[in-house]
Amino acid sequence: MTTGVAVFGATGSIGESTLSVIEEHPDRFNLEVVSAHSSVDKLIRVIERFEPEHVILTDLSQENALMERLPKQFRGSLAFGENSLIEAANATEVDVIMAAIVGGAGLRSTYAAVSSGKRICLANKEALVMAGQLMIAEARRSGAVLLPIDSEHNAMFQCLPESYLVGEQIAGLQQLILTCSGGPFLDWSIGDLSRVTPAQAVAHPNWSMGRKISVDSATLMNKGLELIEATYLFGVPESIIDVVIHPESVIHSLVEFIDGSTLAQLSSPDMRIPIAHALGFPERLRINVDRLSLIGLAGLHFEAVRHDAFPALNLARKVSVEGGDRPIILNAANEVAVEAFLNDQINFTEITEITADCLNQIAKQRVSSINDVLSLDKMCRRTAERVISERK
Ligand code: NAD
Ligand code: MG
Repeated sequence: MTTGVAVFGATGSIGESTLSVIEEHPDRFNLEVVSAHSSVDKLIRVIERFEPEHVILTDLSQENALMERLPKQFRGSLAFGENSLIEAANATEVDVIMAAIVGGAGLRSTYAAVSSGKRICLANKEALVMAGQLMIAEARRSGAVLLPIDSEHNAMFQCLPESYLVGEQIAGLQQLILTCSGGPFLDWSIGDLSRVTPAQAVAHPNWSMGRKISVDSATLMNKGLELIEATYLFGVPESIIDVVIHPESVIHSLVEFIDGSTLAQLSSPDMRIPIAHALGFPERLRINVDRLSLIGLAGLHFEAVRHDAFPALNLARKVSVEGGDRPIILNAANEVAVEAFLNDQINFTEITEITADCLNQIAKQRVSSINDVLSLDKMCRRTAERVISERK
């Protein structure tokens, strides 16, 4: 019996790594669904190489561009628009959904995947940050199993008793330690940080990733989002989650227990490793990746976060304590600010300043459904755009 896989965001960095793991195990996985937003060129290459059964393009304006260039040998079916993702999540042929769309754009499809009661490989951390409580409650209702793809959370998952997956409290847990590479500007002065260019920010020293997460890794907002992600995934308060800088990205995170034991997961920095772990779980899949050579390592280093230079992490920590609607604002404002930085509209240090401004300006509101989350997200994006235009 093969496992039917749907890859939402198949043309992205996580999507490509997922397809590469699936390609190594043709007897085990069948690629049922791939989705892309607007990158028709990449989608055509995915269709030619991996021959998925079903293809979804979510950006309706690119429909003709895809139809004109669809490979002649393609025998599968095509669908357009975001609703097609929701239908795909519920299709009987699909057993596992890789949620790898970037940002709040993935919220509806990731939530639909959770509602389907299937296995979700969760890369789309922003969806969990925005709607963590709703998402976890829905998973308990539907029976969906949320397996973390983020390398840090996947590392913790590998160190924790599996019973946490069904909502059991983690016995004997002292603290979770999130490691953080520190990004490309680890030692930079605050003055130099304000002159960072988009090209410098997207060039991560250890990982090759999409542009948005690369910028988040450089501001440390990524670690802030991951802190919030961990509170929901593992059902723990932020107060027991520590963050430590580890520039080599070899230890992907650690779990400390009350008896003084600390467990860690180590590997070369390659996202195919957590992806293969989640796709194969509870079995281990053999994959062709660089093996870790302990003798070859020059050393492992650890240091404290420089919060004065990278205020995004503490901003996210504060948001995690406050909860409610705050994570939605944090995420939306950050997404808009990152985009503005990538378009040369604001400087690097303004990304976190604008996010903090939005949190100050938007009054508290109750959110009790995904529609509430989506409408607050929309409102925050408008506020962030206004805050940016007022700065110019
Ligand atoms: P990416 O930019 O490389 O790819 C994003 C994918 O989402 C593409 O397939 C794109 O077509 C699709 N997409 C973009 N906008 C969309 C929209 N409006 N509607 C539907 N689909 C849309 O991003 P990535 O680096 O692969 O990251 C994907 C997710 O995984 C993010 O949430 C990121 O935080 C998380 N993640 C990535 C890495 C990594 O190494 N890249 C590591 C950990 C977590
Ligand atoms: Mg990560």
